[in-house]
Amino acid sequence: MTTPVTYELIKECGQTGARLGKLHTPHGTFDTPMFMPVGTLATVKTMSPEELKAMGAGVILSNTYHLWLRPGEDIVEEAGGLHRFMNWDQGILTDSGGFQVFSLSDLREITEEGVHFRNHLNGEKLFLTPEKSIHVQNALGSDIMMAFDECPPFPAEREYLIDSLERTSRWAERCLAANKHPDRQAIFGIVQGGVYEDLRKRSAEALTSLDFPGYAVGGLSVGEPKHLMYEALEYTTPLLPTHKPRYLMGVGSPDALIEGAIRGIDMFDCVLPTRIARNGTCMTSEGRLVIRNAKFARDFRPIDEDCDCHVCQTYSRAYIRHLVKSNETFGFRLTTYHNLHFLIKLMERVREAIREDRLNDFKEEFFERYGFNQPNAKNF
Ligand SMILES: [Zn+2]
Repeated sequence: MTTPVTYELIKECGQTGARLGKLHTPHGTFDTPMFMPVGTLATVKTMSPEELKAMGAGVILSNTYHLWLRPGEDIVEEAGGLHRFMNWDQGILTDSGGFQVFSLSDLREITEEGVHFRNHLNGEKLFLTPEKSIHVQNALGSDIMMAFDECPPFPAEREYLIDSLERTSRWAERCLAANKHPDRQAIFGIVQGGVYEDLRKRSAEALTSLDFPGYAVGGLSVGEPKHLMYEALEYTTPLLPTHKPRYLMGVGSPDALIEGAIRGIDMFDCVLPTRIARNGTCMTSEGRLVIRNAKFARDFRPIDEDCDCHVCQTYSRAYIRHLVKSNETFGFRLTTYHNLHFLIKLMERVREAIREDRLNDFKEEFFERYGFNQPNAKNF
């Protein structure tokens, strides 16, 4: 069957397991490995879609659960779908809502049919099923929809993980059957199994037999130490088809993006760059910069002297610090703009390094400068 989303493998890195590729979607073709900014409520907080496009953010992510509750998928559909509703003519990936159901609601009950839980806004009882999740994502009209899965926390009991991944596989089949627009909306399956190699294998086998056009590695970046995440990637990505895209969900720190790419991941998303920006924390080529610090009060240099983004070409640390300390919206806009640009640019450099078979060398140089090689290095 033809699928609306395909992956073209361009080149494998001679030095690592990384790959250079192209993701073809109904809303354009995008170079991978790539980072996707998160626009939870049909907006990447403080950024206009025009700015995101100019920056090279090819695919953005939006949240099924949040848009289902507010404004409601029927309103988005009536507007002509999410692309038209928010004026974004490039790729959109929607998550399934599963992660929010499991992370935002403490009163939930999982059955074979779906999950009962409470709306985090008003406490109202809700029921989300694989069919409902796909129904909402069909109405949103995203290019890539995610299968409805259960994302168990870390640590989780092995026995529980087995039940959970088997249920997730049955739900995956129901998601495929529920897709009303298979000609223009693709569904990616999500491999679970925690940090157990045999369980990842079991989950990957069940899902690859369903022939999804792409696969996500789920259930990572949920509180486990990073070395366990990297180990899990090392044995999971080889279980996935070579000619399909691989997406690592919820990962966005610079070190994890590089380590993920090295282990064959093509797509990443995370709220990290935008969330820390609203806290006044910036990612720079020399590590984390907390703009609120008193030492920047008279520092008229840009956030990152090596960054060619509009913010770094125009505004000083002292000015941005003043805005952030005064809770001025414009300050958060500037830090958000820079952080997203930083990660999009980082992925460009990762792709360049793959093209030149030197991703490991690039990693060493980048880590050294960023400070990841130092003991007690911060996570981002
Ligand atoms: Zn910048």
